[in-house]
Amino acid sequence: MEIELRGLKEGINRLRTTISPESLDLEGSDLRCTSVIQADLTLTKNEPIYSIKGSLSGSVRLMCARCLTEFEIELSAPFERIVHREDKLALAGEASDEITFIAPDAISVDLSDEVREALLLTLPIKPLCSEGCLGLCPSCGKNLNEGKCTCLQEHTDARWNKLLALKNQTET
Ligand SMILES: [Zn+2]
Ligand SMILES: [Zn+2]
Repeated sequence: MEIELRGLKEGINRLRTTISPESLDLEGSDLRCTSVIQADLTLTKNEPIYSIKGSLSGSVRLMCARCLTEFEIELSAPFERIVHREDKLALAGEASDEITFIAPDAISVDLSDEVREALLLTLPIKPLCSEGCLGLCPSCGKNLNEGKCTCLQEHTDARWNKLLALKNQTET
């Protein structure tokens, strides 16, 4: 996400933009975007500080931790960043946890890395396709959301048979 700094007025500026997943360098990361990312931001200019705050949203593809099925969700991530125009050139291009430093004569700032980080932080650690996902059968691997498998039936029967046998033993 490249933000043009020229033409911004002192005080509050509204920024609405779309970010293409390709621009975020997602190869090898866990983030799989299936749509463009919408950025809805407020930029407060107070030279030499630009304070950016708002939200990012878009759809991502995840894999269910229980049944391994892929599904899509709408992700909404908060975004907050301070861009600091720095006189000391040595700092330009550096970024700390909250502040991105830019050169004194920079006309724009690229926040693609920061956007990617914000989105990654919002991904669920243990994604579930649904709250009540039944997962896979541990013995045959069938997706139990699609119906019961026969081995589950057998296991249950076997347990009952043992109990019945025990019951019969004690009774006789
Ligand atoms: Zn699932
Ligand atoms: Zn099974």
